[in-house]
Amino acid sequence: MDFEFTEEQELFRRTSSRFADKEIAPMVDELEQREEFPVEVLKRMGELGFLGIPYPEKYGGSGGDVVSLCIFLEELTRVSPAVAGATVVQINGVAGPVALFGTEDQKQAYLVPSIRGDKIGAIGMTEPGAGSDVASVRTSAEKEDSGYLINGTKMFCTNAGIADLFFVTAVTDRNKGIKGISIFVVERGTRGLTVGRNMGKLGLHGLGTYEVILEGCRVERFSLLGEEDRGVYNLMRSVERNRISVAAMAVGLAKAAFDDAVRYARERVQFGKPIGKFQGIQFMLADMAVEIELATLMAYKAAWMDDRGMRCNKEASIAKLYASEMVNRIAYKALQVHGGYGYMMEYPLQRYFRDARVFEIFEGTSEIQRTIIGRELGL
Ligand SMILES: Cc1cc2nc3c(=O)[nH]c(=O)nc-3n(C[C@H](O)[C@H](O)[C@H](O)COP(=O)(O)OP(=O)(O)OC[C@H]3O[C@@H](n4cnc5c(N)ncnc54)[C@H](O)[C@@H]3O)c2cc1C
Repeated sequence: MDFEFTEEQELFRRTSSRFADKEIAPMVDELEQREEFPVEVLKRMGELGFLGIPYPEKYGGSGGDVVSLCIFLEELTRVSPAVAGATVVQINGVAGPVALFGTEDQKQAYLVPSIRGDKIGAIGMTEPGAGSDVASVRTSAEKEDSGYLINGTKMFCTNAGIADLFFVTAVTDRNKGIKGISIFVVERGTRGLTVGRNMGKLGLHGLGTYEVILEGCRVERFSLLGEEDRGVYNLMRSVERNRISVAAMAVGLAKAAFDDAVRYARERVQFGKPIGKFQGIQFMLADMAVEIELATLMAYKAAWMDDRGMRCNKEASIAKLYASEMVNRIAYKALQVHGGYGYMMEYPLQRYFRDARVFEIFEGTSEIQRTIIGRELGL
């Protein structure tokens, strides 16, 4: 067994961390005041090569591993979960499916520009009536002579306000249930595609989350990504990596909250000594350290398995479930260590607390992760 990162991965952590501290940290307060993501940030990450970490060099990627992807996302989330949220959609959600099952022409049209940051993508899987149950989509894609006619409404589409490409699931054969759903890439400007309201959120401010309406939207056959009717099956091939990535992101946010709590426990004096000298606070910080260590091990073990092409459905769900619940406990306790100051808007604790909440919801809720783990146990 080897629990060490390679020299290359350590170096990459320093590069990622420096980027997050220098280029992202200064904009965090401003992002809190808005509900739209600054597109230049994704373009900058494209220029620096971050958007292509796990993809082949021939498409402009870095040919890196999943462990490095997790390192980058962890460091980014430590500074801004909103920026990391916008980025993970671009890296995993948009480039991922094209790299996995796009044709060579689609890779040139969608993968290459998305890795460069020239084309931003949004994912439209969720619908008003289809959340965890992705197979219950109502959006339809009727076959026509040269393509498809798409009708439907998508919910919670991250980055849709700045997107050039919309990856949507739609029913191509109503009689086949989950085996009758396909994925289409709809370009901005296509007649019938409207980006609807930007929904205000509890946390992840700075990130736009939109409704997307497709009404009589005609697309060419080229827009079909992967085989017809195999959309959900194909997407399932990328969910492990998505869950591992979210686990690493949760670790990043937890570390930010924990570091602040340790610093505060050393500095804040009550009853004549730093509060970190009280066992009540020490135990809280010790429990936090244990949980972060566990989540880190789980996330990177699953990433390591993914890198080796090992099946890691259970490990990815365990990591995602544990890390996303862990970050909520850490954010809660870190705020508690700060007392009244933690509750004030001028400290970042309230942001950690609000941003942590979504980790148990997106990329498969905690209940869905438990269901997957249960199924993997043969139940
Ligand atoms: C900030 C944010 C960004 C998002 N970005 C995107 C995006 O870019 N693209 C996209 O397509 N979607 C996106 N989503 C949607 C996200 O994937 C869904 O919210 C998630 O899949 C849950 O679906 P739902 O909200 O409809 O909840 P529901 O599925 O309706 O679930 C409601 C409750 O029921 C529980 N539940 C459901 N089924 C079961 C079951 N079988 N057993 C036990 N409990 C169950 C859930 O765990 C939950 O507690 C985003 C969501 C958020 C909050």
